[in-house]
Amino acid sequence: MAILRNDGVLQLNYRPLAHRRIYRQVQQRDGWICGWCQGPGSTLDHVIPICWGGQTIPENCVIACRSCNHSRNNALPSTFIRWTGLKPSHPVIRHILTHESAILDRAQQSLASRPLSSCVSREEAQIWIAFHTNPIERVQPTPVEEPLTRVKNETRAFSEYFVP
Ligand SMILES: [Zn+2]
Repeated sequence: MAILRNDGVLQLNYRPLAHRRIYRQVQQRDGWICGWCQGPGSTLDHVIPICWGGQTIPENCVIACRSCNHSRNNALPSTFIRWTGLKPSHPVIRHILTHESAILDRAQQSLASRPLSSCVSREEAQIWIAFHTNPIERVQPTPVEEPLTRVKNETRAFSEYFVP
């Protein structure tokens, strides 16, 4: 829950341990492989971005490389594959691409109905609060520009970073 402290600071009680658990689950399912480009990847990527109501659940998350995750930013999957020409075969991405508008509607409804305690990161909690503070003018993510350059790909497998 969000708690307004006496000093006026809004304290967000989200669930970082749940975030870590989901990351581990998704990593065990996907390995250290980017769901978009099949390169080495290590970040948790929300296929429907958090700002569109996408949740941190295995059904909405894949492992992605930094390049794909950062260059996509808040773009929807359909926009990202149009930019990049990537043809991801990951079942989670394929499913969401096929039903994107219905899943997007559901994500927005879910953001409206689920409690703040469903949020597992600060970013998610902030979006939840923005969405619920402004119910008339629903917060719409600003459309993102296609990046001119992509950040450098990870060239080594993630596990190599842990060589003792
Ligand atoms: Zn990638």
